[in-house]
Amino acid sequence: MTCLKPETAQPGASKPGRDFNPFDVMAPRAPGAIPKDMKNGGRVLINNVRPEGVYLPNNNIMTPAMRSPEYVQMSTAAAITLGLMPGTMHRCGCTRCLNLLLTYPEGCRANCAYCGLARHREADRDYADRNFIRVDWPAVPMAEIAARVGADPENSPFHRMCISMITHPKSDEDTFTVLKTWTDHVDPDAIPISILSNPTTMTREDVQRLRDMGSDIFTVALDAATPAIFDRTRGKGVQSPHTWKKYWEILMDARDIFGPQKFGAHIIVGMGETEHEILSLVQELVDLGGHSHMFCFYPEKGSLMDHLPATPRDQWRRVQLARYLIDYAGVRVDQMKFDEEGRVADFGLPTGELDAIIDAGTAFRTSGCPGKEAEDVSACDRPYGDSPPSNIASYPFKPADADLRRIRHQLDMEKPGEEYVEGEEFDYLDADPPAAE
Ligand code: SF4
Repeated sequence: MTCLKPETAQPGASKPGRDFNPFDVMAPRAPGAIPKDMKNGGRVLINNVRPEGVYLPNNNIMTPAMRSPEYVQMSTAAAITLGLMPGTMHRCGCTRCLNLLLTYPEGCRANCAYCGLARHREADRDYADRNFIRVDWPAVPMAEIAARVGADPENSPFHRMCISMITHPKSDEDTFTVLKTWTDHVDPDAIPISILSNPTTMTREDVQRLRDMGSDIFTVALDAATPAIFDRTRGKGVQSPHTWKKYWEILMDARDIFGPQKFGAHIIVGMGETEHEILSLVQELVDLGGHSHMFCFYPEKGSLMDHLPATPRDQWRRVQLARYLIDYAGVRVDQMKFDEEGRVADFGLPTGELDAIIDAGTAFRTSGCPGKEAEDVSACDRPYGDSPPSNIASYPFKPADADLRRIRHQLDMEKPGEEYVEGEEFDYLDADPPAAE
């Protein structure tokens, strides 16, 4: 699509008095002190319970001592899809991405303020029992996962597999081993591989090695949209080791090594940045040849930001739509207009074209690495990772008509005669769910 000058503004896109999460409000609380014997996975290491098969997080029994590369954790959605855990997901048949997370009794050694896996929780919960993006992460032997999926990768429900590194002295080396176990069983052409990296411990050579071993896409979880928010939420502000500079260094290595459209950054919306700031970052990533993967801030239980408000839906929808226009529709941030608070006031497209993009619904689906459906549809659908099902932020399925009416209501861009009726999207629960694709 070519770049077009706006013919008309979308006056409802930003409305005075509507809400957003400002920087001053979004300050994390300080991490507390941890008793010495609870540090570094002390409780799990002292008890040293031998793991046997799949471990479903359960506070009533002692967490076994599980460690990558033999063990990894997987999302609840992936465990349900693989049949390792009972359950169903609201309006989703399965997930399309097998998200794997390295695991150690000592856990992640970083302390990111919004994250349920952070180190400050050592006294509160053993690592494998911690909630992360709102769900439990069962621990499963890596060899079992590779063998199960490798039995018939062509017909697997998964369109992609992703290894999430965490911050641990062994995570670089163990990522290579986990990747090798996978590629010994599953052809990367059948199920492409993404790496969600941990730049803090990585070198350019590590990035190259992951590419050489068959990875398809490399992402950096920048998470914060500005250096100040980064430092406050995952750097010195919370006694965490990450730096904006190192994250950008590895991101640029990924750009060189993985190439255009094969690298990207995760960004969380609503941690105190302005809409103009975050969309300028989205533009920068597109200009570099990459993509942004957006998350709506949600106050994760037990995190250092669990007392703060989730991102208001109007702010989220504006950023979600504008990000899609920049990433996939050829619109540039400088074509958009912003109000004095940095909120989107005009999306930079004629109303008819903008209407068509909103009505297609793709802009409001979970963003991430693509699967087998389309370049702009993420395999990584993360069902309800950034919101409850009652007020969906990232749609893990194609939004239906009632969802689109709710989205337009949140954007303050309702069509006359097609106003949203509170709760109408839950009528789908009595009917067949929309196609999960
Ligand atoms: S490095 Fe990643 S897993 Fe570790 S605390 Fe930070 S966000 Fe969570």
